[in-house]
Amino acid sequence: MEARMSGYLVLARKYRSTTFDEVVGQEPIAQTLKNAISSGRVAHAYLFAGTRGVGKTTMARILAKALNCLSSDGPTLTPCNKCEACIAIGRGDDIDVAEIDGASNRGIEEIRQLRANAIFAPARCRFKIYYIDEVHQITREAFNALLKTLEEPPPHVKFIFATTETEKIPATILSRCQRFDFRNIPTRKIADHMQALCKAEGIEAEDDAVFRLARSANGSMRDGLSLLEQLLSSGHRVTDAEVVRILGVPPEERVGSMLNAIAQGDTPAALGELDSLLQGGVALNSVVGALGDSFRNLMLAAACGIDSEIIELSETQKTTLAPLTKKFSTPLLVGALGILAKLSYNIRGSSLARPLVEAAIVRLAEAEKFVDPQSLIQRLQDIADCADGPEAEKKKPVGRPTVATESAPRPQQIQSPAAPAAPAATEVPEVQAAQPPAVSRQPLSTTEKQKMHEDPVVREVLSLFGGEIIDIRRCETHPVAGPTDEPTQ
Ligand SMILES: [Zn+2]
Repeated sequence: MEARMSGYLVLARKYRSTTFDEVVGQEPIAQTLKNAISSGRVAHAYLFAGTRGVGKTTMARILAKALNCLSSDGPTLTPCNKCEACIAIGRGDDIDVAEIDGASNRGIEEIRQLRANAIFAPARCRFKIYYIDEVHQITREAFNALLKTLEEPPPHVKFIFATTETEKIPATILSRCQRFDFRNIPTRKIADHMQALCKAEGIEAEDDAVFRLARSANGSMRDGLSLLEQLLSSGHRVTDAEVVRILGVPPEERVGSMLNAIAQGDTPAALGELDSLLQGGVALNSVVGALGDSFRNLMLAAACGIDSEIIELSETQKTTLAPLTKKFSTPLLVGALGILAKLSYNIRGSSLARPLVEAAIVRLAEAEKFVDPQSLIQRLQDIADCADGPEAEKKKPVGRPTVATESAPRPQQIQSPAAPAAPAATEVPEVQAAQPPAVSRQPLSTTEKQKMHEDPVVREVLSLFGGEIIDIRRCETHPVAGPTDEPTQ
């Protein structure tokens, strides 16, 4: 057991990419560096920018080996990974390749020492390479000292800076570096790498499980591998059930049935699902997160199709999601995301967290009972425009936005008094600038007038503001519509 444990602890290190061609997820950068080496145009200073665990240190070591490999007469695209220099650089302790942590060596003294040392020729390699990680942490005076070396670097010195916060680096330093932005690694690539690694270790791993792990790594290979190690320390197989348990996320099928209940307007069933998830030990914010993920995927599926690459789901998960895509209208999906975004913020540290989540579920399941505030504001504006008539319309600039958020009534105030205190969907798409409405003199039929009288929005406005209908006129631009602008299924 001891041996297995320690074996897993070095998983990330054991499978670190050792050549440009092995680098996962940063192929364009690897290619550019290869081009620089083969054309003999390697810069004096590089800046590797990107979030943690995306391969900055790995790339720096590969570049250092490519420049310094002893098995080759000069810089090479394919370092041997066998010579003393390659091995020491791979370990991060070569005498000519210094790996410096910017956070703990941030002062002027450390940088002065570095400068004094940089003057001397390398001990055995072609180049002296300084890799400073988290370089944004070093002090301003230290940056100034560093700048002097960057302005006139000795020909045998190369700098590689890495940072997660580029904006904290002085412009004078940035302008002397060739910059590479490391992207977050796509989930599919992390998953494939993890699966290959499991195979190499002789570990059986379910595809769904690996994909779920990869997704929770949020683009960081290191985070993904560390989750995998955590999982392997408790068993020899990687199953989806175990991943679900470790991550504390609600199982898909349960989220699926909650979404189904919401789609069918079955509020008791949706709330029942929430209750049983919470009873089962899933945290409230994980449920909200899972709902948010699902609504996002449904929205993307509605916009780009279920097979779009933007949707990061395993095949099994896509199969679960597919039937749900037909059950929600796009405006409802967009509105749901607004509600959930607000919800996840509001429940932090709130003693009413659970009631807020329940209210949101009620609001989603009974969406047709709630007037979408934005469309209500729009329609109020339309009514006002029509009431003003064509004379007033002429005085107004053409194409002005119909909704001025400053002067518009607050969405919360317009909501039905009977509505639970669910967060309103304020994050709805911007309202298009409207053409001035054309008022027709053609009188309305009795049926049309009746329809206006019965319109829930009109009735709501009348009850809220205590008004009465004096006259109804036809507005060609905004014909009589249904209860809300949301097509409901
Ligand atoms: Zn070598």
